[in-house]
Amino acid sequence: MANSENTLLIRPSDAKSWSLCARRVWLDNRGAFTPGPVEDAFEQLVIDLGLAHEQTVLELLSGNMDVHTATSQEDTAHLMAKRVPAIYQAQLLNEDDGIFGLPDFLILHESGEYQAADAKLSLSTEKKEIQVQLGIYRRLLGSGLPAIVFLGDGEQALIGNEANAAANQFVTEMRELLASEDEPLVRYSHSKCRACPYYTHCKPPFEEKEELSLVYGIQGRTASGLESKGIDTISKLATTEPDRIPDVPYLKGSDKKHRAVLQAKSHLSGEVFQLKPVELPKGHWIHFDIEDNPLTGNGEKHVYLWGFLVPDFSSDSDEGSFEYVWTDHHAEDEQGWLQFLDQVDHYRQKFPELILAHYSSHERSTINAYAKRYGMEDHDTVAYLLGEKSPLFDLQKPVLDNLVLPLQGYGLKDICKHKDLVNFQWQDDDSGSQWSVVQFNRYLSETDLETKANLKAQILSYNRDDVTATRRLEEWLRTNFSY
Ligand code: SF4
Repeated sequence: MANSENTLLIRPSDAKSWSLCARRVWLDNRGAFTPGPVEDAFEQLVIDLGLAHEQTVLELLSGNMDVHTATSQEDTAHLMAKRVPAIYQAQLLNEDDGIFGLPDFLILHESGEYQAADAKLSLSTEKKEIQVQLGIYRRLLGSGLPAIVFLGDGEQALIGNEANAAANQFVTEMRELLASEDEPLVRYSHSKCRACPYYTHCKPPFEEKEELSLVYGIQGRTASGLESKGIDTISKLATTEPDRIPDVPYLKGSDKKHRAVLQAKSHLSGEVFQLKPVELPKGHWIHFDIEDNPLTGNGEKHVYLWGFLVPDFSSDSDEGSFEYVWTDHHAEDEQGWLQFLDQVDHYRQKFPELILAHYSSHERSTINAYAKRYGMEDHDTVAYLLGEKSPLFDLQKPVLDNLVLPLQGYGLKDICKHKDLVNFQWQDDDSGSQWSVVQFNRYLSETDLETKANLKAQILSYNRDDVTATRRLEEWLRTNFSY
Protein backbone atom coordinates (compact mmCIF):
# COMPACT_ATOMS: atom_id res chain seq x y z
CA MET A 1 0.00 0.00 0.00
CA ALA A 2 1.33 3.47 -0.86
CA ASN A 3 0.07 6.90 0.14
CA SER A 4 -1.23 9.59 -2.19
CA GLU A 5 2.30 10.57 -3.33
CA ASN A 6 2.97 6.94 -4.10
CA THR A 7 5.78 6.67 -1.54
CA LEU A 8 6.10 3.62 0.68
CA LEU A 9 4.21 3.67 3.95
CA ILE A 10 5.97 3.49 7.29
CA ARG A 11 4.86 0.39 9.16
CA PRO A 12 5.45 -0.03 12.90
CA SER A 13 5.88 -3.77 12.25
CA ASP A 14 9.23 -2.83 10.64
CA ALA A 15 10.52 -1.66 14.03
CA LYS A 16 12.27 -4.96 14.83
CA SER A 17 14.12 -5.06 11.53
CA TRP A 18 14.96 -1.35 11.84
CA SER A 19 16.34 -1.84 15.37
CA LEU A 20 18.67 -4.57 14.04
CA CYS A 21 20.04 -2.95 10.88
CA ALA A 22 19.13 0.02 8.63
CA ARG A 23 20.01 -1.96 5.52
CA ARG A 24 17.85 -4.88 6.56
CA VAL A 25 14.74 -2.74 6.86
CA TRP A 26 15.57 -0.98 3.55
CA LEU A 27 15.94 -4.38 1.85
CA ASP A 28 12.66 -5.56 3.40
CA ASN A 29 10.89 -2.61 1.77
CA ARG A 30 12.88 -1.81 -1.34
CA GLY A 31 15.01 -4.87 -2.06
CA ALA A 32 14.30 -6.67 -5.30
CA PHE A 33 15.18 -10.20 -4.23
CA THR A 34 14.00 -12.92 -1.90
CA PRO A 35 16.04 -13.44 1.26
CA GLY A 36 17.62 -16.83 1.94
CA PRO A 37 16.31 -19.18 4.66
CA VAL A 38 17.58 -18.62 8.22
CA GLU A 39 16.71 -20.40 11.45
CA ASP A 40 13.24 -20.91 9.99
CA ALA A 41 12.03 -23.46 12.51
CA PHE A 42 12.93 -21.32 15.54
CA GLU A 43 11.43 -18.18 13.96
CA GLN A 44 8.30 -20.17 13.13
CA LEU A 45 8.10 -21.51 16.69
CA VAL A 46 8.26 -17.96 18.07
CA ILE A 47 5.60 -16.83 15.55
CA ASP A 48 3.34 -19.77 16.45
CA LEU A 49 3.72 -19.13 20.18
CA GLY A 50 3.04 -15.41 19.55
CA LEU A 51 -0.16 -16.20 17.65
CA ALA A 52 -1.26 -18.63 20.36
CA HIS A 53 -0.68 -15.91 22.97
CA GLU A 54 -2.69 -13.43 20.87
CA GLN A 55 -5.56 -15.94 20.74
CA THR A 56 -5.41 -16.39 24.52
CA VAL A 57 -5.71 -12.61 24.97
CA LEU A 58 -8.55 -12.49 22.43
CA GLU A 59 -10.45 -15.17 24.37
CA LEU A 60 -9.82 -13.35 27.62
CA LEU A 61 -11.14 -10.06 26.26
CA SER A 62 -14.07 -11.74 24.54
CA GLY A 63 -15.13 -13.17 27.91
CA ASN A 64 -15.46 -9.63 29.28
CA MET A 65 -16.63 -7.52 26.36
CA ASP A 66 -17.97 -7.47 22.86
CA VAL A 67 -14.96 -7.81 20.49
CA HIS A 68 -15.39 -7.04 16.77
CA THR A 69 -12.85 -8.12 14.15
CA ALA A 70 -11.97 -5.36 11.69
CA THR A 71 -11.66 -6.35 8.03
CA SER A 72 -10.10 -3.17 6.63
CA GLN A 73 -8.97 0.32 7.50
CA GLU A 74 -12.44 1.65 6.57
CA ASP A 75 -14.12 -1.02 8.68
CA THR A 76 -11.87 -0.05 11.64
CA ALA A 77 -12.94 3.60 11.24
CA HIS A 78 -16.59 2.49 11.04
CA LEU A 79 -16.34 0.35 14.21
CA MET A 80 -14.57 3.17 16.05
CA ALA A 81 -17.31 5.61 15.03
CA LYS A 82 -19.86 3.14 16.46
CA ARG A 83 -17.89 3.07 19.71
CA VAL A 84 -17.83 -0.74 19.92
CA PRO A 85 -16.12 -1.95 23.15
CA ALA A 86 -13.12 -3.62 21.46
CA ILE A 87 -11.75 -4.05 17.95
CA TYR A 88 -9.48 -6.98 17.01
CA GLN A 89 -6.95 -6.72 14.13
CA ALA A 90 -7.46 -2.98 13.77
CA GLN A 91 -6.00 -1.10 10.79
CA LEU A 92 -4.99 2.53 11.25
CA LEU A 93 -3.79 4.79 8.43
CA ASN A 94 -2.51 8.35 8.62
CA GLU A 95 -2.08 9.40 4.99
CA ASP A 96 -0.48 12.75 5.79
CA ASP A 97 2.23 11.10 7.89
CA GLY A 98 2.40 8.05 5.58
CA ILE A 99 2.07 5.64 8.52
CA PHE A 100 0.04 2.44 8.50
CA GLY A 101 -0.29 0.45 11.74
CA LEU A 102 -1.95 -2.80 12.76
CA PRO A 103 -2.51 -2.89 16.53
CA ASP A 104 -3.80 -6.26 17.74
CA PHE A 105 -6.60 -4.56 19.69
CA LEU A 106 -8.29 -1.20 20.22
CA ILE A 107 -10.11 -1.09 23.54
CA LEU A 108 -12.68 1.58 24.36
CA HIS A 109 -11.63 3.43 27.51
CA GLU A 110 -14.11 4.90 29.97
CA SER A 111 -13.01 8.37 28.78
CA GLY A 112 -14.55 7.51 25.39
CA GLU A 113 -11.14 7.27 23.64
CA TYR A 114 -9.67 4.09 22.17
CA GLN A 115 -6.59 2.56 23.73
CA ALA A 116 -4.16 0.56 21.55
CA ALA A 117 -3.10 -2.86 22.84
CA ASP A 118 -0.73 -5.57 21.59
CA ALA A 119 -0.12 -9.13 22.74
CA LYS A 120 3.65 -9.73 23.11
CA LEU A 121 5.46 -12.90 24.17
CA SER A 122 8.05 -10.71 25.82
CA LEU A 123 8.05 -10.37 29.61
CA SER A 124 8.74 -6.63 29.66
CA THR A 125 8.34 -3.57 27.45
CA GLU A 126 12.06 -2.80 27.41
CA LYS A 127 12.70 -3.79 23.81
CA LYS A 128 12.97 -0.78 21.53
CA GLU A 129 10.73 -2.31 18.87
CA ILE A 130 7.90 -2.68 21.42
CA GLN A 131 8.28 0.93 22.52
CA VAL A 132 8.26 2.07 18.88
CA GLN A 133 5.24 0.01 17.84
CA LEU A 134 3.04 0.99 20.74
CA GLY A 135 4.30 4.60 20.61
CA ILE A 136 3.22 4.84 16.98
CA TYR A 137 -0.20 3.32 17.64
CA ARG A 138 -0.74 6.09 20.20
CA ARG A 139 0.39 8.64 17.62
CA LEU A 140 -1.99 7.18 15.01
CA LEU A 141 -4.84 7.37 17.50
CA GLY A 142 -3.82 10.86 18.62
CA SER A 143 -4.36 9.47 22.09
CA GLY A 144 -3.02 10.66 25.41
CA LEU A 145 -3.92 7.30 26.95
CA PRO A 146 -1.11 4.81 27.51
CA ALA A 147 -1.03 1.74 25.24
CA ILE A 148 -1.46 -1.69 26.82
CA VAL A 149 0.91 -4.62 26.38
CA PHE A 150 -0.41 -8.09 27.26
CA LEU A 151 2.88 -9.74 28.23
CA GLY A 152 3.84 -13.38 27.72
CA ASP A 153 3.52 -14.23 31.42
CA GLY A 154 -0.09 -12.98 31.62
CA GLU A 155 0.84 -9.62 33.17
CA GLN A 156 -0.10 -6.27 31.62
CA ALA A 157 2.18 -3.25 31.15
CA LEU A 158 1.52 0.31 29.96
CA ILE A 159 3.50 2.39 27.49
CA GLY A 160 3.00 6.16 27.59
CA ASN A 161 4.86 9.30 26.60
CA GLU A 162 8.23 7.76 27.42
CA ALA A 163 8.03 5.93 24.07
CA ASN A 164 7.53 9.12 22.01
CA ALA A 165 11.24 9.78 21.43
CA ALA A 166 11.87 6.26 20.07
CA ALA A 167 8.71 6.39 17.94
CA ASN A 168 9.70 9.79 16.49
CA GLN A 169 13.23 8.58 15.77
CA PHE A 170 11.80 5.55 13.94
CA VAL A 171 9.48 7.69 11.81
CA THR A 172 12.22 10.19 10.90
CA GLU A 173 14.76 7.51 10.00
CA MET A 174 12.25 5.34 8.15
CA ARG A 175 11.10 8.32 6.10
CA GLU A 176 14.69 8.93 4.95
CA LEU A 177 15.39 5.25 4.38
CA LEU A 178 12.26 4.60 2.32
CA ALA A 179 12.91 7.69 0.19
CA SER A 180 16.44 6.57 -0.64
CA GLU A 181 17.17 4.77 -3.91
CA ASP A 182 20.42 3.41 -2.50
CA GLU A 183 21.09 0.58 -0.13
CA PRO A 184 22.28 2.16 3.16
CA LEU A 185 25.97 1.84 4.00
CA VAL A 186 26.37 -0.22 7.17
CA ARG A 187 29.04 -2.24 8.96
CA TYR A 188 29.30 -6.00 9.24
CA SER A 189 28.19 -7.41 12.59
CA HIS A 190 28.88 -11.11 12.99
CA SER A 191 26.18 -11.67 15.61
CA LYS A 192 23.49 -9.89 13.55
CA CYS A 193 24.58 -10.72 10.00
CA ARG A 194 25.03 -14.47 10.37
CA ALA A 195 21.40 -14.75 11.53
CA CYS A 196 20.06 -12.35 8.89
CA PRO A 197 18.14 -13.46 5.79
CA TYR A 198 20.28 -11.11 3.66
CA TYR A 199 23.61 -12.66 4.73
CA THR A 200 24.44 -14.07 1.30
CA HIS A 201 23.58 -10.73 -0.29
CA CYS A 202 25.71 -8.60 2.05
CA LYS A 203 28.72 -10.75 2.89
CA PRO A 204 30.48 -10.92 -0.52
CA PRO A 205 30.68 -7.11 -1.00
CA PHE A 206 31.97 -6.74 2.57
CA GLU A 207 34.68 -9.27 1.78
CA GLU A 208 35.50 -7.71 -1.57
CA LYS A 209 36.20 -4.32 -0.03
CA GLU A 210 37.95 -5.92 2.99
CA GLU A 211 35.52 -4.24 5.38
CA LEU A 212 37.34 -3.87 8.71
CA SER A 213 34.38 -4.93 10.83
CA LEU A 214 34.74 -8.44 9.37
CA VAL A 215 37.71 -8.82 11.73
CA TYR A 216 36.78 -10.30 15.11
CA GLY A 217 36.87 -7.58 17.78
CA ILE A 218 36.66 -4.63 15.34
CA GLN A 219 33.31 -2.97 15.97
CA GLY A 220 31.67 -0.30 13.83
CA ARG A 221 33.05 2.69 15.73
CA THR A 222 36.53 1.15 15.79
CA ALA A 223 36.37 0.58 12.03
CA SER A 224 35.26 4.20 11.41
CA GLY A 225 38.08 5.46 13.65
CA LEU A 226 40.68 3.38 11.80
CA GLU A 227 39.37 4.50 8.42
CA SER A 228 39.64 8.14 9.44
CA LYS A 229 43.34 7.47 10.11
CA GLY A 230 43.89 5.91 6.69
CA ILE A 231 43.69 2.25 7.81
CA ASP A 232 40.69 1.35 5.69
CA THR A 233 41.18 -2.30 4.70
CA ILE A 234 41.98 -5.53 6.52
CA SER A 235 45.27 -5.75 4.58
CA LYS A 236 46.30 -2.31 5.79
CA LEU A 237 45.47 -3.22 9.38
CA ALA A 238 47.40 -6.47 9.05
CA THR A 239 50.53 -4.67 7.84
CA THR A 240 50.47 -1.74 10.28
CA GLU A 241 52.88 -1.78 13.21
CA PRO A 242 50.62 -2.01 16.30
CA ASP A 243 52.47 0.84 18.01
CA ARG A 244 51.75 3.13 15.05
CA ILE A 245 47.97 2.65 15.28
CA PRO A 246 46.44 5.78 16.84
CA ASP A 247 43.93 5.42 19.67
CA VAL A 248 40.42 4.97 18.26
CA PRO A 249 37.18 3.93 20.03
CA TYR A 250 37.52 0.50 21.74
CA LEU A 251 41.10 0.15 20.46
CA LYS A 252 43.46 1.67 22.97
CA GLY A 253 46.59 0.18 24.56
CA SER A 254 49.32 -1.88 22.91
CA ASP A 255 47.88 -5.32 23.83
CA LYS A 256 44.58 -4.63 22.07
CA LYS A 257 46.30 -3.14 19.03
CA HIS A 258 48.74 -6.06 18.81
CA ARG A 259 45.83 -8.47 18.98
CA ALA A 260 43.85 -6.53 16.33
CA VAL A 261 46.77 -6.72 13.90
CA LEU A 262 47.22 -10.46 14.50
CA GLN A 263 43.46 -11.00 14.10
CA ALA A 264 43.60 -9.19 10.74
CA LYS A 265 46.59 -11.33 9.67
CA SER A 266 44.81 -14.49 10.79
CA HIS A 267 41.68 -13.41 8.90
CA LEU A 268 43.67 -13.10 5.66
CA SER A 269 46.04 -16.05 5.98
CA GLY A 270 44.19 -18.57 8.18
CA GLU A 271 47.22 -18.57 10.47
CA VAL A 272 46.86 -19.33 14.19
CA PHE A 273 48.79 -17.11 16.61
CA GLN A 274 49.61 -18.05 20.15
CA LEU A 275 50.03 -15.17 22.60
CA LYS A 276 50.93 -17.24 25.67
CA PRO A 277 51.02 -20.94 26.66
CA VAL A 278 47.58 -22.33 27.45
CA GLU A 279 47.35 -23.45 31.06
CA LEU A 280 44.67 -26.00 31.87
CA PRO A 281 43.88 -27.03 35.44
CA LYS A 282 44.90 -30.48 36.60
CA GLY A 283 42.26 -32.89 37.82
CA HIS A 284 39.61 -35.29 36.62
CA TRP A 285 37.83 -33.57 33.76
CA ILE A 286 34.12 -33.98 33.19
CA HIS A 287 32.62 -32.03 30.32
CA PHE A 288 29.35 -30.29 31.01
CA ASP A 289 26.70 -28.54 28.90
CA ILE A 290 23.07 -27.54 29.44
CA GLU A 291 20.06 -27.12 27.17
CA ASP A 292 17.37 -24.68 28.23
CA ASN A 293 13.99 -23.58 26.96
CA PRO A 294 13.43 -19.79 27.14
CA LEU A 295 9.87 -20.10 25.78
CA THR A 296 8.17 -21.32 28.95
CA GLY A 297 5.70 -18.44 29.18
CA ASN A 298 6.46 -17.74 32.84
CA GLY A 299 9.65 -15.74 32.32
CA GLU A 300 11.92 -18.41 33.75
CA LYS A 301 14.07 -20.54 31.52
CA HIS A 302 13.70 -24.26 32.08
CA VAL A 303 16.88 -26.32 31.88
CA TYR A 304 15.52 -29.55 30.45
CA LEU A 305 18.89 -31.21 30.05
CA TRP A 306 22.03 -31.11 32.19
CA GLY A 307 24.55 -33.22 30.22
CA PHE A 308 27.95 -34.62 31.25
CA LEU A 309 30.69 -36.49 29.43
CA VAL A 310 32.64 -38.55 31.93
CA PRO A 311 35.80 -39.71 30.18
CA ASP A 312 37.57 -42.92 31.03
CA PHE A 313 41.26 -42.19 30.59
CA SER A 314 42.19 -45.88 30.54
CA SER A 315 42.16 -45.98 26.75
CA ASP A 316 42.99 -43.41 24.08
CA SER A 317 40.03 -44.42 21.97
CA ASP A 318 37.49 -44.19 24.78
CA GLU A 319 34.68 -41.76 24.02
CA GLY A 320 33.63 -41.43 27.64
CA SER A 321 30.27 -42.10 29.16
CA PHE A 322 27.41 -39.66 28.56
CA GLU A 323 25.33 -39.05 31.69
CA TYR A 324 22.52 -36.59 32.09
CA VAL A 325 19.59 -35.20 34.06
CA TRP A 326 16.41 -34.67 32.02
CA THR A 327 13.05 -33.19 32.96
CA ASP A 328 9.99 -33.24 30.74
CA HIS A 329 8.35 -30.00 31.69
CA HIS A 330 9.06 -26.73 33.49
CA ALA A 331 6.71 -27.92 36.26
CA GLU A 332 9.57 -30.35 37.08
CA ASP A 333 12.20 -27.62 36.99
CA GLU A 334 13.14 -27.76 40.67
CA GLN A 335 13.29 -31.55 40.61
CA GLY A 336 15.79 -31.37 37.69
CA TRP A 337 17.90 -28.79 39.52
CA LEU A 338 18.05 -30.95 42.67
CA GLN A 339 18.97 -34.01 40.60
CA PHE A 340 21.71 -31.98 38.95
CA LEU A 341 23.11 -31.04 42.38
CA ASP A 342 22.99 -34.73 43.42
CA GLN A 343 24.84 -35.67 40.26
CA VAL A 344 27.54 -33.07 40.95
CA ASP A 345 27.80 -34.33 44.51
CA HIS A 346 28.26 -37.86 43.22
CA TYR A 347 31.15 -36.73 40.95
CA ARG A 348 32.62 -34.70 43.79
CA GLN A 349 32.76 -37.75 46.05
CA LYS A 350 34.17 -39.94 43.30
CA PHE A 351 36.74 -37.46 41.94
CA PRO A 352 38.18 -35.16 44.64
CA GLU A 353 40.10 -33.27 41.90
CA LEU A 354 36.99 -32.67 39.83
CA ILE A 355 37.04 -30.20 36.91
CA LEU A 356 33.63 -29.44 35.36
CA ALA A 357 34.59 -28.04 31.97
CA HIS A 358 32.08 -26.04 29.94
CA TYR A 359 32.27 -23.48 27.13
CA SER A 360 31.27 -19.82 27.79
CA SER A 361 29.85 -18.29 30.96
CA HIS A 362 26.33 -19.64 30.35
CA GLU A 363 26.58 -22.71 32.62
CA ARG A 364 27.96 -20.77 35.60
CA SER A 365 25.41 -17.95 35.25
CA THR A 366 22.59 -20.50 34.97
CA ILE A 367 23.71 -22.26 38.18
CA ASN A 368 23.82 -18.84 39.83
CA ALA A 369 20.29 -18.01 38.61
CA TYR A 370 18.92 -21.39 39.78
CA ALA A 371 20.53 -21.00 43.22
CA LYS A 372 18.71 -17.65 43.55
CA ARG A 373 15.46 -19.00 42.09
CA TYR A 374 15.29 -21.72 44.75
CA GLY A 375 16.90 -19.71 47.60
CA MET A 376 19.82 -22.16 47.77
CA GLU A 377 22.86 -19.86 47.66
CA ASP A 378 24.11 -21.40 50.94
CA HIS A 379 23.54 -25.02 49.94
CA ASP A 380 26.77 -27.00 50.29
CA THR A 381 26.95 -28.18 46.65
CA VAL A 382 26.01 -24.73 45.32
CA ALA A 383 28.72 -23.13 47.49
CA TYR A 384 31.17 -25.74 46.15
CA LEU A 385 30.15 -24.99 42.54
CA LEU A 386 30.30 -21.21 42.84
CA GLY A 387 32.88 -20.72 45.60
CA GLU A 388 36.58 -19.89 45.49
CA LYS A 389 37.62 -23.47 44.73
CA SER A 390 34.91 -24.00 42.15
CA PRO A 391 35.35 -27.04 39.88
CA LEU A 392 33.72 -25.08 37.03
CA PHE A 393 36.18 -24.24 34.28
CA ASP A 394 35.20 -22.13 31.27
CA LEU A 395 37.23 -23.42 28.30
CA GLN A 396 36.47 -20.30 26.26
CA LYS A 397 38.67 -18.24 28.56
CA PRO A 398 42.06 -19.84 27.74
CA VAL A 399 41.13 -19.68 24.06
CA LEU A 400 40.31 -15.96 24.16
CA ASP A 401 43.25 -15.13 26.43
CA ASN A 402 45.93 -16.99 24.55
CA LEU A 403 45.03 -17.61 20.93
CA VAL A 404 44.20 -15.63 17.82
CA LEU A 405 42.27 -17.85 15.44
CA PRO A 406 41.04 -17.38 11.86
CA LEU A 407 37.46 -16.88 13.03
CA GLN A 408 34.84 -14.15 13.08
CA GLY A 409 33.27 -15.52 16.26
CA TYR A 410 34.76 -17.62 19.06
CA GLY A 411 31.74 -19.84 19.72
CA LEU A 412 32.21 -23.56 20.39
CA LYS A 413 30.98 -24.51 16.93
CA ASP A 414 33.12 -21.85 15.22
CA ILE A 415 36.27 -23.40 16.67
CA CYS A 416 35.33 -27.06 16.72
CA LYS A 417 33.83 -27.34 13.23
CA HIS A 418 36.72 -25.50 11.55
CA LYS A 419 38.66 -28.08 9.52
CA ASP A 420 42.04 -26.50 10.31
CA LEU A 421 41.31 -26.18 14.01
CA VAL A 422 39.58 -28.81 16.17
CA ASN A 423 37.73 -30.36 13.20
CA PHE A 424 34.95 -32.04 15.17
CA GLN A 425 31.66 -32.40 13.27
CA TRP A 426 28.22 -32.70 14.93
CA GLN A 427 26.17 -35.69 13.78
CA ASP A 428 23.34 -33.41 12.72
CA ASP A 429 24.82 -30.47 10.84
CA ASP A 430 21.67 -28.37 11.40
CA SER A 431 21.66 -28.81 15.17
CA GLY A 432 22.29 -25.91 17.54
CA SER A 433 20.84 -24.35 20.67
CA GLN A 434 17.81 -22.91 18.82
CA TRP A 435 17.36 -26.22 17.02
CA SER A 436 17.34 -27.95 20.42
CA VAL A 437 14.63 -25.55 21.71
CA VAL A 438 12.51 -26.29 18.63
CA GLN A 439 12.92 -30.06 19.09
CA PHE A 440 12.07 -29.79 22.79
CA ASN A 441 8.90 -27.80 22.07
CA ARG A 442 7.93 -30.45 19.50
CA TYR A 443 8.64 -33.06 22.16
CA LEU A 444 6.33 -31.21 24.58
CA SER A 445 3.40 -31.10 22.17
CA GLU A 446 3.91 -34.54 20.59
CA THR A 447 1.39 -37.21 21.60
CA ASP A 448 2.75 -40.16 19.62
CA LEU A 449 5.08 -41.98 22.06
CA GLU A 450 7.45 -43.30 19.43
CA THR A 451 7.92 -39.87 17.80
CA LYS A 452 8.35 -38.37 21.25
CA ALA A 453 11.07 -40.87 22.10
CA ASN A 454 12.82 -40.11 18.78
CA LEU A 455 12.79 -36.38 19.48
CA LYS A 456 14.28 -36.94 22.93
CA ALA A 457 16.97 -39.19 21.44
CA GLN A 458 17.88 -36.46 18.91
CA ILE A 459 18.20 -33.83 21.64
CA LEU A 460 20.34 -36.14 23.78
CA SER A 461 22.55 -36.93 20.79
CA TYR A 462 23.03 -33.21 20.13
CA ASN A 463 23.96 -32.55 23.75
CA ARG A 464 26.34 -35.48 23.72
CA ASP A 465 28.01 -33.97 20.64
CA ASP A 466 28.33 -30.65 22.47
CA VAL A 467 30.14 -32.17 25.44
CA THR A 468 32.25 -34.34 23.13
CA ALA A 469 33.20 -31.15 21.25
CA THR A 470 34.47 -29.49 24.44
CA ARG A 471 36.43 -32.69 25.17
CA ARG A 472 37.99 -32.51 21.67
CA LEU A 473 38.77 -28.85 22.21
CA GLU A 474 40.51 -29.68 25.49
CA GLU A 475 42.61 -32.32 23.70
CA TRP A 476 43.41 -29.91 20.84
CA LEU A 477 44.56 -27.25 23.30
CA ARG A 478 46.69 -29.73 25.27
CA THR A 479 48.32 -31.16 22.14
CA ASN A 480 49.10 -27.89 20.40
CA PHE A 481 49.31 -25.05 22.89
CA SER A 482 49.91 -26.34 26.41
CA TYR A 483 53.50 -26.78 27.63
S1 SF4 B 1 23.39 -9.19 6.51
FE1 SF4 B 1 24.07 -7.71 8.04
S2 SF4 B 1 24.37 -5.81 6.94
FE2 SF4 B 1 23.13 -7.13 5.64
S3 SF4 B 1 21.03 -6.56 6.08
FE3 SF4 B 1 21.54 -8.26 7.40
S4 SF4 B 1 22.25 -7.37 9.32
FE4 SF4 B 1 22.28 -5.75 7.74
